[in-house]
Amino acid sequence: MPRAYNFSAGPSALPEPVLQQAQEELLDWQGCGLSIMEMSHRSAEFMGVARQAEADFRELLGISDNYAVLFMHGGASMQFSAIPLNLTTPGDSADYVCTGAWSEKAIKEAKRLTNVQIASTSKSSNYSDIAPIAEWQINPDAAYLHYTDNETIHGVEFDWIPEVDAPLVVDVSSNILSKPLDVERFGVIYAGAQKNVGPAGLALVVVRKDLLDRARPDIPRLLHWRVIADSGSMDNTPPAFAWYLSGLVFKWIKAEGGLAIMAERNQKKAHKLYASIDQSDFYHSPVAPGCRSAMNVPFVLAESALDQPFLQAAKEEGLLNLKGHRSVGGMRASIYNAVPEAAIDALVSFMRHFESVNG
Ligand SMILES: *Cc1c(COP(=O)(O)O)cnc(C)c1O
Repeated sequence: MPRAYNFSAGPSALPEPVLQQAQEELLDWQGCGLSIMEMSHRSAEFMGVARQAEADFRELLGISDNYAVLFMHGGASMQFSAIPLNLTTPGDSADYVCTGAWSEKAIKEAKRLTNVQIASTSKSSNYSDIAPIAEWQINPDAAYLHYTDNETIHGVEFDWIPEVDAPLVVDVSSNILSKPLDVERFGVIYAGAQKNVGPAGLALVVVRKDLLDRARPDIPRLLHWRVIADSGSMDNTPPAFAWYLSGLVFKWIKAEGGLAIMAERNQKKAHKLYASIDQSDFYHSPVAPGCRSAMNVPFVLAESALDQPFLQAAKEEGLLNLKGHRSVGGMRASIYNAVPEAAIDALVSFMRHFESVNG
């Protein structure tokens, strides 16, 4: 059976050459006689893999020595806790911008740990747009400002970087490495790996070095960015296989030509899909054209009674995981780096056919 086209929001599609290499190396990693999963994380071999992955990640994003790169456990959600614990002391307040379900989760956790001011929320539009910064209520004394660059569930993506005085903290879980990023504008950049990078369980955290030492004294050791930075992300056993596989993905992106090429491809893919949705009365995108995500494309059908037949017929065509998130309904096509343009072509052609039969 050929591999299906996988539109899952996460864990999501990985590049086929990466999976093939991992398969080839699985039983015997580079002549060592054992799998990468079976060796000490402190062995010279694994340390080499780990350091190379960091070097390639730094090269792809252009991360300078002003920043530490951390490979942490616990996915992006663990950082929802780590961020206030590392960046605030009691009495501080942090600004949060709320543009969708993932912002809401980050805010909910931050509120347990510090004072939170909502600088802006687009809840009243059902998270279908992003307010311009001129309308935000920015606290000049905020410990940091947090926002979610791409809302994986609502399909809203920033195409600009907020200009604020406080350290800028950004969740790029679902669009990291999908386009170049001006790293120096940020205090902290973080992402769970399982959308655009690798297997779940790993988070990539890029921290400006002057922010490593602001943690409150009672912070749990494994959430303390300084501890993780000083130990080369090996204070305890890291998620070694996820780290290794992410390293293969970094190499794949480099071989494909880097982030500018990724951005070009992703724009082309997204444009094709949105154009096909917009030209039809049968399909509808709920997101304002100016802030539509190039990674997660939610859309609804003319009648929700057709959702199940749509999903069933799509599955029979090898188009998998198009169901929208349970909180918003409808459909969602996640079209990360590893989803080829051919998958978009197949989806668009399937949608046309389904409309002609059911429209
Ligand atoms: C998936 C996702 C998360 C949560 O990631 P976990 O690794 O499951 O904790 C956080 N933020 C965004 C934007 C996401 O897409």
